[in-house]
Amino acid sequence: MDERNQAYADKLSRMIRLETVSDYGQPENEKFSAFQRLLEELFPHLFAACSKRDFRGSLLLHWPGRDKDAEPVLFLNHMDVVEAGGDWSHPPFAAERAEDKLWGRGALDDKGGLWAMLQAGDELAGEDFIPSRDIYFMSSCTEETSGCGAEAIAAWFEENGIRLAMSFDEGGMIMYDPIGGAEGDFAMIGVGEKGCADLRFVARSAGGHASTPDRDTPLVRLGKFMAAADKGGLFDRELSDTTCEMLRRFAPYMGKVGIVTGRPRLFAPVLKQVLPRLSGAAGALLQTTLAFTMARGSGGYNVLPEEAWVVGNMRYSHHQGRDGSIRAASELARRYDIEVEVLDGGCESRLTDYNSPAFRLTERAVAAVFPGVKPVPYVMTGASDSRFLDRVCDQCIRFLPFKIDRQQLASIHGLDENVDMDSLSPAVDYYKFLMREV
Ligand SMILES: [Zn+2]
Repeated sequence: MDERNQAYADKLSRMIRLETVSDYGQPENEKFSAFQRLLEELFPHLFAACSKRDFRGSLLLHWPGRDKDAEPVLFLNHMDVVEAGGDWSHPPFAAERAEDKLWGRGALDDKGGLWAMLQAGDELAGEDFIPSRDIYFMSSCTEETSGCGAEAIAAWFEENGIRLAMSFDEGGMIMYDPIGGAEGDFAMIGVGEKGCADLRFVARSAGGHASTPDRDTPLVRLGKFMAAADKGGLFDRELSDTTCEMLRRFAPYMGKVGIVTGRPRLFAPVLKQVLPRLSGAAGALLQTTLAFTMARGSGGYNVLPEEAWVVGNMRYSHHQGRDGSIRAASELARRYDIEVEVLDGGCESRLTDYNSPAFRLTERAVAAVFPGVKPVPYVMTGASDSRFLDRVCDQCIRFLPFKIDRQQLASIHGLDENVDMDSLSPAVDYYKFLMREV
């Protein structure tokens, strides 16, 4: 391990050891203030060059650039992490080093990204570099929960009449064969994300004793409804421009299958049938998804529920949208005499064009720092803070410049999260490239 990566790992270790598990009740929790103080200690040159604002634990830094008329650029990576239960092979907040990896919650999502972004800024600020235009850095402490920190900061930009040229958030990463069948290393660059809604499906009855059940009691109706939804066909399947471009870029590395994926418009009817059969992830590219996550019946073994419910987590596609997707699910529910409550409708976000300056700049940065890695645009199925930025920024890129394997992908929000130590230097170089070129 070279010295540069060792020194970087020292800093990231300190960020991992200061536990910042999201706090639903109190975003302004003292641990986020302590974490901000740690950042200030770790990145002194950058903090000296920037003015700072605190949004109840979420941080915004402003680094003035040379051209005051140019629209500023935003870099963002969140500071909160998800909890770390279960049986880890290295304790989640110890930042142990083994097998040339640094282990701990947040190593990738998203303290790795936050560290790399601030490290790049700190090194440049230490060389008295002044960006060509204003740069903002944002780190929310609510990304893994409500997103209210990012929402508040987006509102602040809006209130102050600040329009952003582009933003660079966490998102897809570099993987070998990310979809199954594409041989090569690909940088998965998120150009948008599906919306996320939580719906409660409620079935009612007069209740009663379980010894004399009528047919179609609430749980049975919910069961039939879920089985019908699970069959597929509930939501419209569509190959978006972004997905077509993604498939086209994979095509040269897919052998014979590439003949089909290389012409996605021509083979759209085939792809719409085949992709959902490949995997849940491939199917999710085409349509809204609905996953049932919670359920409740009566309180007793022998009591028929007067009310039973299931919660469905919906990820709505851009073509069907929030309202269209909720309508489709509600129409199906009604057939089983089930009512629908929208617990949280989430928000719809725009897609950034893969021909836009922000995407092109990202491609150039990938080419400069990761030779041989092929950039691919895609729509993320997970949510990020970027969804709140649409109103102040037209081009939102979601990409985290780390190369990961399948274990590391599964470790995000799971067990044994870790980052390769030799991937730390390239991540800093990537952000430096962007900061010099924006
Ligand atoms: Zn994240």
